[in-house]
Amino acid sequence: MGEKYQALRQRLETVHNLNMAGGVLNWDRETAMPPKGDGARARQLATLARLSHEIFTSQETARLIEDARSEINGAAYESNEASLIRVAQRDYDQLTRLPTEFVAELTRITALAHNVWAEARATSNFVTFQPMLEQIMDLMVEGASCLGYKEHPYDALLNQYDEGMTTSLVRTIFEAHRPALVDLIAAVRAAPQVDDSFLHQDFDIEKQRQFGLKMTEAFGYDYQRGIQEVSVHPFCTHFSSNDVRITTRFDPKFIGSALFGFFHETGHAMYEQGIAQDLDDNILAGGTSLSVHESQSRMWENIVGRSKEYWSWALPQLQEYFPQLKGIGLDEFHRAINTVRNSFIRVEADEATYNLHIILRFEIEQELVAGKLAPKDVRDAWNSRFEQFFGMTPPNDAQGVLQDVHWSAGLVGYFPTYALGNLLSVQYYNQALKAHPNIPNEFAQGKFDTLLGWLNTNIHQYGRKYTTEELTQRVTGETIQSNAYMTYLKDKYTEVYGL
Ligand code: ZN
Repeated sequence: MGEKYQALRQRLETVHNLNMAGGVLNWDRETAMPPKGDGARARQLATLARLSHEIFTSQETARLIEDARSEINGAAYESNEASLIRVAQRDYDQLTRLPTEFVAELTRITALAHNVWAEARATSNFVTFQPMLEQIMDLMVEGASCLGYKEHPYDALLNQYDEGMTTSLVRTIFEAHRPALVDLIAAVRAAPQVDDSFLHQDFDIEKQRQFGLKMTEAFGYDYQRGIQEVSVHPFCTHFSSNDVRITTRFDPKFIGSALFGFFHETGHAMYEQGIAQDLDDNILAGGTSLSVHESQSRMWENIVGRSKEYWSWALPQLQEYFPQLKGIGLDEFHRAINTVRNSFIRVEADEATYNLHIILRFEIEQELVAGKLAPKDVRDAWNSRFEQFFGMTPPNDAQGVLQDVHWSAGLVGYFPTYALGNLLSVQYYNQALKAHPNIPNEFAQGKFDTLLGWLNTNIHQYGRKYTTEELTQRVTGETIQSNAYMTYLKDKYTEVYGL
């Protein structure tokens, strides 16, 4: 490659290395740092973020992108060179459209808002959070107009988390499956409830950890290039494809929390480990989008990790770790880990109710951003929609409108990626199944490399080269849609609840 392209590559590598170094400091903060280290750590992180931002958004970077583009003129769209320039241009446009004063003000307000939200949630009083929400929504509207959009200001916000995603596309996808979800949940509610009480008893934490490590290693998470630690909120982070880390939260009274958390984060981790080595040192290293990332975590957590085939192999092993589960049959266990319960809280939601929680947030967010709903009316809007979707009203604000941290952090437009990830997980999995119909039978033998190999080849290796839409078209020949997901849910719950 030519000189100019190399110069751009080097500059972007510097930015990438600063960001990855910030990631290491973050990892340490979440897993090891003593509480009083927080002040200094915040300053260190801010320094790295400022350096990275200054280098990336300078005129020099714009010039290098321009020069490299004319130098590689004619390189194939999917080549590393053309992809690096394309993604650099996209990131550059996003980051330079927001004025520095705006970014500083948003940082200041969200830092204040976090504590106000935490206090409001603790006392379950929406009214105390309302002034903050008003300021944050004003900033979101201002940010959207700086970033630019074609149809709806919410497009600009969505685009930050999933390049090219639009409000109208998300609305079409959500409206296509909302009625069927509501019906499915009503049918489940009318059926006799499943007994899952045996999942709630004493489970030794070290044994939970050992079992989680054993299972995720079998899935294909390479622990020579990864590590597992404990944290308050489970997450996955990476510094290169050879250093991808996950955390777990353990509950000594419930086996499901750590177990499915392990599977979930492992799905994220195997995505990062599967990115092509020649993308490793630069800004293409990382998942396509939050939606595609979530498709990978949900696939291993739910499609593999809650399947009967997998547990026909894993349950006897779990029973060796936890003899209190001996005597529980495969069908009984499978039903228990697939229980559907209407819950007020999104993060506790099962596969059937999860997307409804997201659709509710999506509708409220886009009305807020469009000025159709005032922040002071959000609580009422939340409660009446919840009643309409789930047939029950949150008993208080903490279990309703105040439950999520996202708005206080200025993360508006983020929620839809969770639901889109669920839909994509089934769309991608069905393609893997078409290519290798024996995959579920392999789970029953503790063999997962056919599925993982297919994901490596068709999704993981490309890193950030393609957008969600481009990747989904390549892999499935269609756009994101909900039919496959609804079929998957209906089949599962027909069996579990004998609908
Ligand atoms: Zn996730």
